[in-house]
Amino acid sequence: MTPEQLIRPEIQRLSAYHVADATGMVKLDAMENPYSLPDDLRAELAVKLRDAAINRYPDPHASAVQQALRQAFAIDPAYDIMLGNGSDELIQIIASALAKPGAALLAVEPSFVMYRMIAEFTGLRYIGVPLRSDFALDEAAVLDALEREQPELVFLAYPNNPTGNVFERGAIERILAAAPGLVVIDEAYHAFAGGLSFLDDLARFDNLLLMRTVSKLGLAGLRLGYLVGKPAWITQFDKVRLPYNVNVLTQVAARFALEHVAVLERQAAYLVTERGRLMQAMSALVGVQTFDSSANFILFRVPDAVRVFAGLKRRAILIKNLHGGHPLLDNCLRVTVGAPQENDAFLAALSAELDLEN
Ligand code: PMP
Repeated sequence: MTPEQLIRPEIQRLSAYHVADATGMVKLDAMENPYSLPDDLRAELAVKLRDAAINRYPDPHASAVQQALRQAFAIDPAYDIMLGNGSDELIQIIASALAKPGAALLAVEPSFVMYRMIAEFTGLRYIGVPLRSDFALDEAAVLDALEREQPELVFLAYPNNPTGNVFERGAIERILAAAPGLVVIDEAYHAFAGGLSFLDDLARFDNLLLMRTVSKLGLAGLRLGYLVGKPAWITQFDKVRLPYNVNVLTQVAARFALEHVAVLERQAAYLVTERGRLMQAMSALVGVQTFDSSANFILFRVPDAVRVFAGLKRRAILIKNLHGGHPLLDNCLRVTVGAPQENDAFLAALSAELDLEN
């Protein structure tokens, strides 16, 4: 018996999610917050982690973390919360629960690649609807696909990754009204989006679920995502969640960090200012086309993305090369907004590489 005989063909065709080695690099590839917690808070956290009961299984519902999330982000008690080992896991849980034979998942393209990958793992039919060339939502095309394909599940990232823009609210509302199934609004980049959110729309749409993560806010290493929705939905998804998916150390650290969420939000606000500075400096470079961002990264196009990406890498700057991922991302690169010195190092390297091209 060989793997080829046993593993589902659609799994064999997939390649594993690629994570580049960042050893020794200025790491601007993964939308992480470059800042750690201040020293006094880290010292306090160390004590809490020391006392954590790692000999015991964690609280299966992580109730203290849920409470801290409600407090930090003003989540109405009318809604339930389900926690995931990263929001990646939440996507997988939702997809598994809906994956009856023939069921479909619709997402726009380009968007977060895990929507497609998880559709394939879970046996959902994947329907990708292209964005317009300016990365705006093609509302007519989405509405058409909803009508034609009747997908059980729709994922919309708000703001979108890797494009960084926010789709028009009215268009999303019309998609919510027309969708025959669930619509998950993925607000992974909420902290950088100037307060834009669909959290307050949960009451208006029975088929809306809201997903967020603490990863981009400064806690990527903890792996914690959260899904907010009407109890009737969350109760069902919670049956698919493995009982101890959020470990003891994550629960302790997340609760503590969320009690100090103002610190993380100040860091996010600072990164938004840096985003403005970076955007301005990049737009001034000859040969660079930038796209507006409401997230902690900037998508941009250069004459030869493969060459610029490799040149930056040689200069120890790691960003993300999106060329080849989707026709609309031709010659596109994505840089995460880092600390000022990191952004300066990136800008210097980018301008040197572009000079070589001209
Ligand atoms: N949604 C979007 C739109 C993302 O860009 C990402 C991270 N790249 C995630 C979800 C997953 O985040 P995490 O699993 O770290 O919570």
